[in-house]
Amino acid sequence: MVTLAPPSIRLRSVGQAVAMPDGAQPARAEALGRREAIDAFGRRMNYLRISLTDRCNFRCLYCMPALGMKFQPRAELLTDDELLRAVGLCARIGFTKLRLTGGEPTIRPHLVELVRGMKAFPGIEELSMTTNALLLGRIADDLAAAGLDRVNVSIDTLDPDKFKLMTRGGRLDLVWKGIEAADAAGLGPIKLNTVVLKDQNEHEVGEMAALTLDRPWQVRFLEIMPLEGVGEVHDEGLVTSEQTQARLEARFGPLEPVAADAADPARLWRIPGAAGTIGFISPVSAPFCEACNRVRLTADGKLRLCLLRPDEVDLRDLMRAGADDDQILDRLLGGVWRKPWGHGLAEGERMTVRGMSQIGG
Ligand code: SAM
Ligand code: SF4
Repeated sequence: MVTLAPPSIRLRSVGQAVAMPDGAQPARAEALGRREAIDAFGRRMNYLRISLTDRCNFRCLYCMPALGMKFQPRAELLTDDELLRAVGLCARIGFTKLRLTGGEPTIRPHLVELVRGMKAFPGIEELSMTTNALLLGRIADDLAAAGLDRVNVSIDTLDPDKFKLMTRGGRLDLVWKGIEAADAAGLGPIKLNTVVLKDQNEHEVGEMAALTLDRPWQVRFLEIMPLEGVGEVHDEGLVTSEQTQARLEARFGPLEPVAADAADPARLWRIPGAAGTIGFISPVSAPFCEACNRVRLTADGKLRLCLLRPDEVDLRDLMRAGADDDQILDRLLGGVWRKPWGHGLAEGERMTVRGMSQIGG
């Protein structure tokens, strides 16, 4: 049986790109032999977050800088065939959950066909998408018919002017239509992601949470992370989950805890009597690395081992060099094995190599 690494190994590895615990090699051979995506700490990876593009039709304050955003030339992004090949190989080594993200995944051409292709791989049990929902009104039905199971929608406020400000130009009415279309298409339970920022939307968390009173939705409050391009926004704007919870409890009274899946980064609560739930995602104040079960595939074909560490393994060039499936599987398994233990946000470390939209948040 695979167990988590002892605390001494964890401590040794925080802050290091790769740490190989003593005596890990036999376990690695075993994992390779079995073709299972397990890291050196015994964590089993079954969740792949796939960035379909680094581009977006919004410019959210906490995600992209106001100026100077550079996007990758299309030739550097995985083609549809390369993307499907990489995902199909991940399915062969135990990935069962996929999430499409970006940038904004709905602006990727052939999205419906990609969804259909990914959902058809044996072993894929759940396919979801994180989106700003601007275009969802037009395509929610087609995506559901192609096999998409659920969506998470990023929405930080219910005030149209504030929304425009926080997304640098976004239209709340269209986003809301997108959410309703997703709900009607059966892409639920709907989860809404709200990044809470000081002096921006911190006073509106109650309105967001109130959406759960009569809807079976999950409204999740995220702490801003200091990724490339938004370090200052983080430093000036971080509102911790504790502060958000205190604000909600001042309005609704004590929240009731709700049991959550161990691998879910959200800690769940409910306003007493509400139809839906409230989640707090607290990468800064309460990291959830120990239960991490995910890696990311960037739009340019790198297996990104941790959102907040620069470690990546190239798949695109390997595929373009004509590698066969076994060679790519070896690269995938070796990459997963080298997944860093965790990030150091709580210790003040920051990620300055890629921004959120370039990794696939
Ligand atoms: N464009 C899609 C969207 O906004 O839902 C998908 C990509 S976006 C990068 C994925 C998620 O990352 C969103 O929920 C967004 O709120 C979140 N996000 C972006 N920048 C963040 C940051 N600096 N800290 C925390 N969450 C962030
Ligand atoms: Fe675009 Fe999503 Fe980033 Fe906002 S959070 S700029 S919608 S990628």
